[in-house]
Amino acid sequence: MPPRTAPVLDLNRRSAPARPAASPPPRRRSGLSKGRVAAGLLLLAALAAVLWFALRPSPGGSGRKSGPWIDFSGVPPAMRPVVEFLHPSPAEARLWFETIRTSTYVQQKWADLADSVAFAYRPDDDAVNAFAGFADGNPAKPRIVLCGGMVRAARLIGAVSLVRASAADQGTEKDIGFYLKRISETVSESGGLSSGRVVDLLNEFEVGTGVFENVAAVSEAKATADGICKAVLGHEMGHLACGHSLGADPNRTVSKNEEAQADLFAGSVAASIANGRQMLEGQILQWYVLALGETRSPGAERLRTHPWSADRLRAAVFANKDLAASLGIDPDEVDVLVREAKSAAEPRTDP
Ligand SMILES: [Zn+2]
Repeated sequence: MPPRTAPVLDLNRRSAPARPAASPPPRRRSGLSKGRVAAGLLLLAALAAVLWFALRPSPGGSGRKSGPWIDFSGVPPAMRPVVEFLHPSPAEARLWFETIRTSTYVQQKWADLADSVAFAYRPDDDAVNAFAGFADGNPAKPRIVLCGGMVRAARLIGAVSLVRASAADQGTEKDIGFYLKRISETVSESGGLSSGRVVDLLNEFEVGTGVFENVAAVSEAKATADGICKAVLGHEMGHLACGHSLGADPNRTVSKNEEAQADLFAGSVAASIANGRQMLEGQILQWYVLALGETRSPGAERLRTHPWSADRLRAAVFANKDLAASLGIDPDEVDVLVREAKSAAEPRTDP
């Protein structure tokens, strides 16, 4: 496994002191001078409109299936890496699903089921969601649906990690807790994430297009985001494999337990694949970001159909202690981690 660059979050509390504090090796500055940031911001400001043209559903709705995934004709060259990053192709989404379907864990125990599951990626659906179900209500036609908003949320988290990596390239540290909390709040407020909203947030975070020129960092950020998508699909496969009521159970305790069981299923998939560490990182990141936007209370607890995200984060770490340790995460420090993140994500007054 190749050595990773900086982790997305400061999850690795134990190894942090090991980072060289002084005299970092000289690096080429990766293009984030003030002028370039301003230029990048201007470009991003126009990106929402461009995205609308490039990604709008074609008349009749079938044109994009036979044509190119993204129509680059209206996209300025400087924006293409951004558009590509934010909109993974159906072929990429299919690879995430195949990672789950062909995993040792799934194939050893649920091969027949898994091979019969249809995978549907709906890039035009802004819902930050994925779900398992049955096509036409037919139990013989199990299906997992991945909505575009979910994928965009994952890539947005990846983009924020790029900002951090870019700052690290210039020898500075960037606290991205505030950005992650904004993403969390945006998702919990609307439940959706359109391309335009993603661009709004990138503008709000002052992410220039320059950070997307660092090929190695972009590749790392994509892998991080893909880990989130794999964790989501592993969870949905778990619902099908375990014969769950698929969100229909009126008993909230049963519903929460089924969610927790599907999470553990995804954890077992992560434990059985070659790049399971990336999938676990995605699982942890997903719950970490969502936990930032949750305020726990007994009243809310009774109404919830899903476990609290902080609990899901903790369970994911305990389910894969060795893999978590390889990410630098000590199970005993998970609660500290969430508390620290919440305080780091408080709005700041300094510019
Ligand atoms: Zn679920």
